[in-house]
Amino acid sequence: MPFNDANAPSPLGLTAHEFARAHARIPGGAADAYRRLFRDGDATALPGLTLPEPARVQRSQSPEGEVVKFVLRVPPNLETESVLIPMVGRTRGRTYTLCVSSQVGCAMGCTFCETAQMGLLRSLTPAEIVAQWFAATHHLRLRPKNIVFMGMGEPLDNLAGVLAAIRALTDHLGAAHPMSRIVVSTVGRLDGLARLAAQVREPGWHRLGLAVSINAPNDQIRSRIMPINRAMPMAALREALLAWPIFGAAKICLEYVLIPGVNDATEHARELASWARPLPACINVIPYNPRRDSPWPAPDEASVDHFLGDLVAAGAYCKRRRTKGREMMGACGQLGNPQLRRPRLVRLGAPASSP
Ligand code: SF4
Repeated sequence: MPFNDANAPSPLGLTAHEFARAHARIPGGAADAYRRLFRDGDATALPGLTLPEPARVQRSQSPEGEVVKFVLRVPPNLETESVLIPMVGRTRGRTYTLCVSSQVGCAMGCTFCETAQMGLLRSLTPAEIVAQWFAATHHLRLRPKNIVFMGMGEPLDNLAGVLAAIRALTDHLGAAHPMSRIVVSTVGRLDGLARLAAQVREPGWHRLGLAVSINAPNDQIRSRIMPINRAMPMAALREALLAWPIFGAAKICLEYVLIPGVNDATEHARELASWARPLPACINVIPYNPRRDSPWPAPDEASVDHFLGDLVAAGAYCKRRRTKGREMMGACGQLGNPQLRRPRLVRLGAPASSP
């Protein structure tokens, strides 16, 4: 099958086994071509294959090194956004975490999130997800140590695509990225969580990380900022997380975007700690990164420290996420191109201002 054939599956979305089955007659062998593509970025055995190359790259400084945000074009005239986040470890060596997108836009409508403003334009294919790793590793030459599905989109809305991408990324004959260094982050769709839990029980998947966006101490606040909560409230979400298969000392990461005046009171910290108490989990407090036209500012340092102190006093295990890439709209919750928004449907005959 020629590699410039638009209907041929890209090798990037396949495991070595799937690739060999589809392309048995490659001179020199499919396994060798696959390995060279993933390990060295070398596509000489695959003539006509277009390698992922960023259309735009933005860089900004953080105390731990350069944050790199990059854009890949995907049909039809859309784009994915990904961010490489630097981290300095205990041995002072710098590593990168790659934040990948699983969709262009998102249907979940979280009010604090820039991506939500786009609506859902489409889900990405496995190859388009893996292309983000490929561009980071072989084009930008920043091979990530960790991969987190925390970019644009709700991964459980594109679960088949995300699982196929993880299969390709962890294939020992290619990218060989460790399963223990991949995290899937979700708003907590209960149907998707049950399907993902079944996958994590399979051999080879036990160490996949799970992060869940909680962002509120109770249903009243959560339903206001995360529409999914109206259908899937916090008690049901906690039941699903209690059933999550935990292997070894792993913990579920509970993400909590701290928004001034919305969810940052001492009472909220106590309520959150009490909700999280039965779970094998760590609460990750993320200072809010304002989206475009945000009604809320970022929290100041004192209120972040205060909230963390309240959580600790209430007996919660918690951490704080350092803010990186905010000035180039590359921080958590800020991805999305305002020019690619899904057109709003206008009801005929309705006044222009009606919702
Ligand atoms: S926070 Fe995540 S799930 Fe919510 S709208 Fe943004 S990308 Fe979608």
